[in-house]
Amino acid sequence: MSDPTRPPPDYDLAIIGGGVNGCGIARDAAGRGLRVLLCERADLASGTSSASTKLIHGGLRYLEFYEFRLVREALMEREVLWGIAPHIIWPLRFVLPHHKKIRPAWLLRLGLFLYDHIGGRKKLPATRTLPLRTNPAGAILKPEFVLGFEYSDCWVEDSRLVVLNARDAADRGATIATRTACVSADRDGENWRIVLRCELTGEQREITARGLVNAAGPWVADVASEVIRANTPAKVRLVQGSHIVVPKLYDHDSCYIFQNADGRIFFLIPYERDFTLIGTTDQDFHGDPGGIHISADEIAYLCRSTSAYLRTPVTPEMVVWSYSGVRPLYDDGSTAAQEATRDYVLKLDSPAGAAPLLSVFGGKITTYRRLAETALADLLPHLPKPMGKPAGWTGRENLPGGDFPSEGFADLLAASATRYPFLPQPTLHRLLRAYGTRIGELLGQATSLDQLGRDFGAGLTEAELRYLIRFEWARTAEDVVWRRSKLGLRLSAAEIILIDEAIRHIIEEGPVDP
Ligand SMILES: Cc1cc2nc3c(=O)[nH]c(=O)nc-3n(C[C@H](O)[C@H](O)[C@H](O)COP(=O)(O)OP(=O)(O)OC[C@H]3O[C@@H](n4cnc5c(N)ncnc54)[C@H](O)[C@@H]3O)c2cc1C
Repeated sequence: MSDPTRPPPDYDLAIIGGGVNGCGIARDAAGRGLRVLLCERADLASGTSSASTKLIHGGLRYLEFYEFRLVREALMEREVLWGIAPHIIWPLRFVLPHHKKIRPAWLLRLGLFLYDHIGGRKKLPATRTLPLRTNPAGAILKPEFVLGFEYSDCWVEDSRLVVLNARDAADRGATIATRTACVSADRDGENWRIVLRCELTGEQREITARGLVNAAGPWVADVASEVIRANTPAKVRLVQGSHIVVPKLYDHDSCYIFQNADGRIFFLIPYERDFTLIGTTDQDFHGDPGGIHISADEIAYLCRSTSAYLRTPVTPEMVVWSYSGVRPLYDDGSTAAQEATRDYVLKLDSPAGAAPLLSVFGGKITTYRRLAETALADLLPHLPKPMGKPAGWTGRENLPGGDFPSEGFADLLAASATRYPFLPQPTLHRLLRAYGTRIGELLGQATSLDQLGRDFGAGLTEAELRYLIRFEWARTAEDVVWRRSKLGLRLSAAEIILIDEAIRHIIEEGPVDP
């Protein structure tokens, strides 16, 4: 029973961490009718959630570790997420060449049969066998690869998924405080007293909330011990993964899944129209996840492993960009990093009469929505009864800009080309992939390119910058060119400095929040 003489807390739920899990929980909670605050000490998705392989996938190889629950849940999420965000999520075909030394073809077929059938696949095309000598997918492969399989999963723009969850949460009343660190959280009876620090000004403020979620990803244990000053309810295993980007290696739209003799798998994925993404590595990490970067050994490993499959080798000199992230895995005691479970574990600490705390361990981008549902199922009995939407609503309502049919991108593109004939095709395509039907808010009534203001290069205009600052919490050029978009691949260092200056000017002009 709550104490009627005390004022109600400022929020029903406070969330630490603006990655996919924190923002997914914020969206679901706001839609259910809870008063939510989320704090992120840097930019949204600046942690692990912008450094993934960007696959919405069941994880074919997890079948080998008997992770049937995880694989089934993840497979089922593919079409759900594609349905709510068809601008940033789309189907991808995976070419899996059979490697005689790794496993027999019948075992692969069996695994793919399971993969096709345990996850409620309705729209994604089924697995098929590929004769690699005649199929175009075989053209870049060494001649010894004669048989392959092709199956379906999906691609996701990971950092945009995070921002769109935050945007939707805010549209439903949540407060999203970026550049805001949680520096302490203490129980005060049935509420939390939480101190937040603005990372731009150093200013601190205190808020109160009934429930608290620790969704700090790789920092979950640090936040538990240094901010909440509680025992970590579970162990987290930090596993580094890095990717390299090279100029486009082939012309078709499928991606490749390869496996090394040591069992580690990696992908070659068509990336940003002119590039190929290669990753990932998998190695235990010790240290500050904030300072992570790719090592020369990882670059060499990815080049060597790729070259073992391709007719033309990939070399370190070809790398135009790389990124690294740390998987915050639940430590299940596995020996090898690549064997540690990718499933999520939620720990609820809710002593009688005391404010509840939920800590998030592990998880995948793919399962963030289900993780959020489980988090709320755990927390709701300890929070004021909300009057909003029922459980499951996040799988039925579109993310911002995603309100068009999941197979309707080509129609949207054609209609938008008629509506905005002045936009070069690559720019229109990029804007629609990023903002979907919200493109109208960005372009306004413009009928010519000059009406979109200054052009910063690669199709980035002042109108887009203003939109990103106003609706997507962008505050630096890095937010814009590496997380809201990947225009950093096409812009020079000098152009990026000019974008930073322009952002500062726009922010100084006045209030920017919608
Ligand atoms: C190399 C790699 C490849 C992957 N590939 C895939 C894939 O293809 N598909 C898939 O489904 N999953 C993939 N994953 C897994 C997925 O990326 C992660 O599980 C997921 O992004 C974790 O999100 P999170 O919200 O828990 O953590 P994060 O995204 O790291 O978010 C935590 C946030 O908490 C903030 N924070 C920390 N301390 C504080 C504080 N005191 N106050 C305020 N904020 C704080 C941080 O700044 C950070 O932004 C991959 C992971 C890696 C590393």
